[in-house]
This record gives sequence, C-alpha cells and structure tokens, in this order.
Amino acid sequence: MASLHQAIADQLPDRLEFYENWLHPERLRHGTIGLAPLAAVLSFLRQEGTVYQVIMHRAGTYAADWTLAGHRVPAYGIVRALPGGLRRRLALGAARRLVRRCHRESRATIRVRRHATTVAIRGSVFCAVREPVALPLCGFYAAAITRVLGAYGVAAAARTDQCRGAGAPACVLSVDTPDRDTSSADATVACTGSEESDR
Ligand SMILES: [Zn+2]
Repeated sequence: MASLHQAIADQLPDRLEFYENWLHPERLRHGTIGLAPLAAVLSFLRQEGTVYQVIMHRAGTYAADWTLAGHRVPAYGIVRALPGGLRRRLALGAARRLVRRCHRESRATIRVRRHATTVAIRGSVFCAVREPVALPLCGFYAAAITRVLGAYGVAAAARTDQCRGAGAPACVLSVDTPDRDTSSADATVACTGSEESDR
C-alpha cells in the first residue's frame, strides 16, 4: 500500500500527515499495514470527493510500476517479438498476480473471449463498504491492469463495469485491447490463481 501513500502525497500533500496516522511510513516499509488502518484510510478518502478516483488511478499505476520493477519481467525486446495473443496472456497473468499481491484475500479471474476480456475480482480490498456508493471504487485495479498490459506492449484500456461497492455481486472490469489478434480467442487464461505463488 506504499502506492496509496505516494498517490495521497501527490494529490493531497496537505492531508498526508493526517493519513499517516494509519499509513505509518515505517510500517509501509515493512509491509505491515493491517486491514483496519487501510479501511480507515479508504473511508476517509471516499469522503474527499472526486479526488478519490484520481488517487486510486495513480496508486494503481504506481503499484503496477513497482511490482513490474521488482519482478522478473522478460526483456522488452523479447516480449515485443512474441505474438500478440501470447503477449496478452503473459500480461494478464502478471496483472492477476498483482491483484493478489495487493491483498492476499483478493483473487482475479480473467477470461479472454473474442470480443471482450473481463477481469472479475473477488475480495477487492477497496470495495468493502457497508452502504452502496454511486461510483465504482476499484479504479485502482483498472489503472494497474492497463499499466501492466502496457508494459508488455499490449495497448489496453481497462474500466470498471460492476463494483461490489456500488451494490454489484462482484467487481468486474472489462479490458479493451484494440490491436488484439484473435489467435487465443475464447481461451480462459486463468482461474483463481490461488494455486500460484506470487514470486
Ligand atoms: Zn469494486
């Protein structure tokens, strides 16, 4: 959740000290921020208005960049030489792992079909609210997925179609990849990912 801290620092620098009551820099460094402090931060952020969406977008982008920087991503030239369908599969696999890394209870199920790729997220840490809200809360994932695919040379735009926070049964994102080929059409590339290590 260091990405969330950085996004708040960017967008609400005057409020950072307030949020650091829960996002202690020391604990962030050690990855020991618990769910309760995070829930408090998200609750206050939702009350900040439209900047919530901007912060989530930035945080998702940072999370993608930092995750990719810390893991074995194949060299860009090699990735670019792969067929589009395979590149997309690799990228979606990386996106799925990123969802799990953000919160161990979260799982992404990715389906690639001829005309639409969808990412269903169970246990989104951002979307657990008591009362439904008007706007989707999982822009973090949309931004992160878009960024990860971009790093693999897959032009993509992910958007939230349904959000548990807005009363839907699950969070569902659709991923538009305008230049996609159809070689892997109708393949289901991933199940829950629960069998897979993050590393
Ligand atoms: Zn959601």
